[in-house]
Amino acid sequence: AAPAPSTAGAFRIVAHPSPATEAERIERVGDMKFGMSFTDHMARITWTADGGWDDRRIEPYGPIPMDPAASVLHYAQEIFEGLKAYRWADGSVWLFRPEANALRFQKSAWRMALPELAVEDFMGSIRAFMSVEKDWVPTAPESSLYLRPFLIGTDVFLGLRAPKKVDYLLIASPSGPYFAGGVKPVSIWVEKDFHRAGPGGTGSAKCGGNYAASLRPQIEAGARGYDQVLYLDAATGLVLEELGGMNVFAVRSDGSVLTPVLNGNILEGVTRSSVIQLIEDQDLKVVERNITLAELREGIDSGEISEVFACGTAAIVTPVGRMGSDDFEVTVGDGQPGPVTLAVRQRLTDIQYGRADDAFGWMQ
Ligand code: PMP
Repeated sequence: AAPAPSTAGAFRIVAHPSPATEAERIERVGDMKFGMSFTDHMARITWTADGGWDDRRIEPYGPIPMDPAASVLHYAQEIFEGLKAYRWADGSVWLFRPEANALRFQKSAWRMALPELAVEDFMGSIRAFMSVEKDWVPTAPESSLYLRPFLIGTDVFLGLRAPKKVDYLLIASPSGPYFAGGVKPVSIWVEKDFHRAGPGGTGSAKCGGNYAASLRPQIEAGARGYDQVLYLDAATGLVLEELGGMNVFAVRSDGSVLTPVLNGNILEGVTRSSVIQLIEDQDLKVVERNITLAELREGIDSGEISEVFACGTAAIVTPVGRMGSDDFEVTVGDGQPGPVTLAVRQRLTDIQYGRADDAFGWMQ
């Protein structure tokens, strides 16, 4: 008789026939460039309009054959998340606020008329996945296992409708430090012609289409010598929103900190809300409100704004050294990482890597 399949919670485990040995893992991940190598397994749950969420499983990582009429291929019915598993010095493996990603995944699903995955299934998929893949969480400083949950419409139908079949998958990629050789300030192009999101659009959902639309502006900014793009609101073109994959903060010389208010077009970053709490915990004030480009430029010119930084799961907290657009170019402060930026980055990474007390109960 065939051996009974193992399970982890509600998940059936279809083990990889030849999982990588330690030596093979090291060779496969190489220098852990972001998103280049993947672990042996993936988690999967299939949803149908008739049967709901079913067939929770961990299976070998590999291609997912798809009908050419699958709805994701035509109407971009896709949402995703990004979070990291961190290895602490004692060898244990931890996640940072994963429920926040689970809830944002539901919010994104709602906006795209995709079925909402229960928080327990999102968490259960990660737990079951990690039970077989934890050896892939790297040990090098500031490295992590990047987890990528995503949901795609696999309905075989060319009519435009909310799909009647959907697949949830979770894959993972070992990733090294974002800044090899220490934190370096990035330069930012303030984009005036292209917008990321408009009122009533999909800006606050983490759907693939938002990122497809960001590539043209990113290429143009790169050609002008800038690292990243900062988007302005589509309605007036005056107000700062966010970067293509990070939220933005400005530090004033009086110690208070500004960040764009969640106006419906901005993705609510898990790092953003954590940074707000960490700064407020230092008895500094964080103001969430509309910030105009004019105010930012004047503040940087006068020195009233002494630091600008961006934040997100991938790069954690990133200083901005230089900003520019068609009609201006400014250096922020002295162009080097500022003290508030570096302190919040240190506090956050200390919590994530278990070097400091998890005072907010963020780690699991
Ligand atoms: N804004 C956008 C557009 C993003 O893609 C991301 C990355 N998910 C963020 C902000 C930062 O979000 P988080 O801190 O949750 O990674």
